[in-house]
Amino acid sequence: MPELNLVLLGPPGSGKGTQGERLNDDLRLPYYATGDILRGAVRDATELGKSAKEYMDRGDLVPDEVIVGVIAERIDSEEAKDGFILDGFPRTTPQAEALDAKLVELGRAVTAVLLIDVADEEVVRRLGGRRTCEAEGHVYHVEFNPPKVEGVCDVDGSPLIVRDDDQPDVIRRRLDTYHEKTEPLVSYYEGKGVLKRVDGERDPAQVTEELRGLLGSLRS
Ligand code: AMP
Repeated sequence: MPELNLVLLGPPGSGKGTQGERLNDDLRLPYYATGDILRGAVRDATELGKSAKEYMDRGDLVPDEVIVGVIAERIDSEEAKDGFILDGFPRTTPQAEALDAKLVELGRAVTAVLLIDVADEEVVRRLGGRRTCEAEGHVYHVEFNPPKVEGVCDVDGSPLIVRDDDQPDVIRRRLDTYHEKTEPLVSYYEGKGVLKRVDGERDPAQVTEELRGLLGSLRS
């Protein structure tokens, strides 16, 4: 079976996390979401968390040198030898170049970049209603995907909170950052012939089906 080295790309709130979890179930590949890794580090007050927290609270990106090593180490691990799914990385051109350099060192390359396209207004609507489980980061939406009991995670019973960076002014800032720093990666990966674009404004199940179709054709 050929290896699958996948990148999920798209603005905050495009559904990368939801789709990533589903692909993870399908493909049984390790799933590395840098936002989750960083939030875990902040929670555990590790050195990584301490260097990341102030940037995250403002809706800014953490410096490239803080995050690149974290991902390079995971990609270069036994569990990722058949491939991986990256969510939230790379987010800048230097990060994309660092990822390429690491993969070249390992004799590998990015197989596909799955761009989940969603307009800004839809992002604001989605993130404004997002609620996140405090313990494990399970994600809900007050309108589109409410928990069975208001304010409580279905999976582990922990409280649901509004992430600091899902506050309205921070959402705007994250979108600006996306357009300025991350969107250039669309042409970067188009130039390499690995970009696959899907319309992320449809029902999540339809998005999943389209992604599965794309990945099926990549694997065969
Ligand atoms: P996310 O959950 O992917 O929206 O990430 C939440 C926050 O973590 C972002 O707003 C950034 O502050 C930080 N972050 C996550 N991934 C990266 C990355 N690849 N580069 C820099 N900062 C990141």
